Amino acid sequence: MDQSSIDALAAQKVAPQGLFIGGQRVAATGGAVMAVTSPIDGQHLTDIADASAADVDAAVRAARRAYASGVWSRAAPAERKKVLFRIAEAIEREALSLAVLGVRDNGTEISMAVKAEPGSAAGTFRYYAEALDKIGGEIAPTAGNVLGLVHREPVGVVGAIVPWNFPLMIGAWKIAPALAMGNSVVLKPSEVASLTLLRLAEICAECGLPEGVLNVVTGAGAVSGEALGLHPDVDVLVFTGSGGVGRRLLEYSARSNLKRVYLELGGKSPNVVFADAPDLRQAARVSAAGIFRNSGQVCVAGSRLLVERSVHEEFAAMLAEEARAMKIGNPLRLDTQAGAIASEAQLARVQHYVEKAHEEGGALRTGGARILTETGGSYFAPTVFDNVTPDMTLAREEVFGPVVAVTPFDTEEDAVRMANGTDFGLASAVWTGNLSRAHRMVRAIDAGVVHVNTYGGADNTVPLGGHRQSGNGHDKSLHALDKYVNLKTAWIQL
Ligand code: NAD
Repeated sequence: MDQSSIDALAAQKVAPQGLFIGGQRVAATGGAVMAVTSPIDGQHLTDIADASAADVDAAVRAARRAYASGVWSRAAPAERKKVLFRIAEAIEREALSLAVLGVRDNGTEISMAVKAEPGSAAGTFRYYAEALDKIGGEIAPTAGNVLGLVHREPVGVVGAIVPWNFPLMIGAWKIAPALAMGNSVVLKPSEVASLTLLRLAEICAECGLPEGVLNVVTGAGAVSGEALGLHPDVDVLVFTGSGGVGRRLLEYSARSNLKRVYLELGGKSPNVVFADAPDLRQAARVSAAGIFRNSGQVCVAGSRLLVERSVHEEFAAMLAEEARAMKIGNPLRLDTQAGAIASEAQLARVQHYVEKAHEEGGALRTGGARILTETGGSYFAPTVFDNVTPDMTLAREEVFGPVVAVTPFDTEEDAVRMANGTDFGLASAVWTGNLSRAHRMVRAIDAGVVHVNTYGGADNTVPLGGHRQSGNGHDKSLHALDKYVNLKTAWIQL
């Protein structure tokens, strides 16, 4: 990966994008489109189709037809495996082009995007390709005169709705296990970042995925997302995004066909630093990356920093230093450490939380303002608010931006109480050199992930899912496959 190849790819025009239904690119009803603005410079990048409820219905019908035909749902596992492997390879071949396209769409710094987007998506397709023929049904230990067989069957049509922060990675977390189990999929990307997922659908078709098995509908969430959520022929809805939309999806299910709904939602993840952390400087460096990379638009971002009082002053100063040292700017530059905020709407949301933190008495250590306005893009300085009390808005609500709230604590019990004093339960971290304390904290923190002396490392072998209002169900690992199968019991009298 070198700067000149990135620049050459970034200079290419992006053609207007249709929906992807039944293996074809098609226009939305009445030719409706939505403009896509790049957060790098605020310039028009391209147009995407703005799907209507009728377009979503067409996509669901295509998915159902493909499912019912058995062309994928009843294909031999070895066949499905071959196609998923081919997709993984094709993503890898196109990795830089996909990464650049995605960065132009959502502003993630390229150094992170290459690994987190095509890199991770290829790994996810490969993981589920390898898994799909390792899992079978069961023979139950019944009495001798009966045979209880447990079949694992695909559920049918999966509706997947994903956000803009890592569209390829998160899209692959849904699509790959759903396809591996034989389902058809209708995918609704975020209107802020649809381009790489549209290309992924084409790649899947080029790699032999039969038409109609994967469909992509783009456009306004309140229209096409709602239509997908309410559709009576969608069997399972899988979602990553905000709690507000997650709640709506549960309502859509209740108002339609009681489809299963799996939610991966937001967080306000505590990052707990004890005075006995092995290396405070290293903790500050990793914690800064854990909240400021991708400009804080990371669901597991460590947005609440709880620091033992004896090292609070020293640590908060180090964190502010790390924040100031970060290179923020054009996300297409290889040396940029944090790129743009994905949209002006999201940048306004970040500003709102910063104003609130000022009003409620937070002490600004660094940042707190929009920067690089001369670029026309959407950039915000890494921001550290100190002495944030647990009742303040900044300690309670997800910003989804480069803003960290620092709060001192006195005892391990206080740290646990503060860490769990939230409606969320997605991620967390503990920095300590005391092995027993590390294990006590892992048990005590109510969250789907607890990092110890690190922040943010993970791969496909481990599940990602939230506790409490951070959601239900899991992406990644073999556990994710459960979302995409129905269990059926065959009870046979012998
Ligand atoms: P969002 O909830 O605004 O949008 C997510 C998706 O829902 C988009 O595709 C959008 O078009 C669609 N949508 C919007 N309104 C809808 C409606 N009324 N009906 C149906 N669909 C609708 O989320 P976002 O702003 O794109 O992403 C940020 C959020 O995602 C943050 O809360 C973040 O924490 C969360 N997130 C969670 C994880 C995780 O794994 N838990 C990962 C990444 C992001």
